[in-house]
Amino acid sequence: MKITRIEVWPVTMRLLEPYRIAYEVIESATNVFLRIETDEGIGGIGCAAPDEQITGETPDDVLSALGDVVEPAVLGADPLRSACLLEMLRPQLKQRPSAMAALDMALHDLLGHKSGLPVWKLLGGYRDSIMTSITIGILPEQETLEQALGWVQQGFRSLKLKGGVDVESDIARLMRVREAVGPDIELRFDANQGFTLEQAVRFVEGTRDAGVELFEQPTPKADPAVLASVTRQVHLPVMADESLMTLRDAFHLAKDELADMVNVKLMKVGGIAEALHINSVARAAGLEVMVGCMDESCLGIAAGLHFALARPNVQYADLDSHLALEGDPCAGAVRIVDGILYPNDAPGFGVTLD
Ligand code: MG
Repeated sequence: MKITRIEVWPVTMRLLEPYRIAYEVIESATNVFLRIETDEGIGGIGCAAPDEQITGETPDDVLSALGDVVEPAVLGADPLRSACLLEMLRPQLKQRPSAMAALDMALHDLLGHKSGLPVWKLLGGYRDSIMTSITIGILPEQETLEQALGWVQQGFRSLKLKGGVDVESDIARLMRVREAVGPDIELRFDANQGFTLEQAVRFVEGTRDAGVELFEQPTPKADPAVLASVTRQVHLPVMADESLMTLRDAFHLAKDELADMVNVKLMKVGGIAEALHINSVARAAGLEVMVGCMDESCLGIAAGLHFALARPNVQYADLDSHLALEGDPCAGAVRIVDGILYPNDAPGFGVTLD
């Protein structure tokens, strides 16, 4: 089998509602899609969701990485040798993790189409569904409550609140949400690096009665020692998100006991192949794993889901960005029922594009 054609195109999707996190307000998302075609008429599709703050890429960076680096390198190559192709391109795409993820995804999708199997089964098929949290950005208290109750009414059992700008108002908001949704809904909190050590400890003390499930990236990634101090000092599981970009980061987080959990996002780490390596490090170190997402199309969500379904120790999912997007060309690649995510049973990632 030979790769005969590569197609790369950007899609900008509006968010149904803009949302605010500790360091920015987000109103739309541009994903870059990649389609691989072969001489056997079988193809594969992937997408990149670049984010300058997190992956360090703009959509233009990804377009040139896929067009100028990936395309000439893979034309004529055998797409079933994905390890060979990804390893060959790894040095050149070191600073382009979401472009790497798009290629990795397209190769996995193609393998699925070739074998007639969904990717989660090709990778081992450990479970067939997983609960996802739904994220609520930084909003005034009343709006936060309305959103929280709205999601619970739609069947979601796990909410992730964003914060990290003002610790006292974060505590107040979280306590009000707990009061409103009752004890049976899981509450996660993500400070997106916004707290100091003292504020992080204060947040945990102030929300002790709310039974928060996990505390994501409390402090800046630039200072791993502070993250480690939070992890040692608080009773809640502390999760590294921005602090985990590479396999090497996973090793350091584990070796230096910087966190209790890690948030693996395919766009940060460069796709499923690398996520599987990171997952093995986490498993060896006893770090719990959540699969998360950037502002990505349902195709990216499907890829994250298929990874999570295949691995026993990926027990948490935060795969909700597709619910906020308008005009997603891959809508329908996953199903969501009462906050539980299911893949569709089609081969690959279950996406058909005209
Ligand atoms: Mg996060």
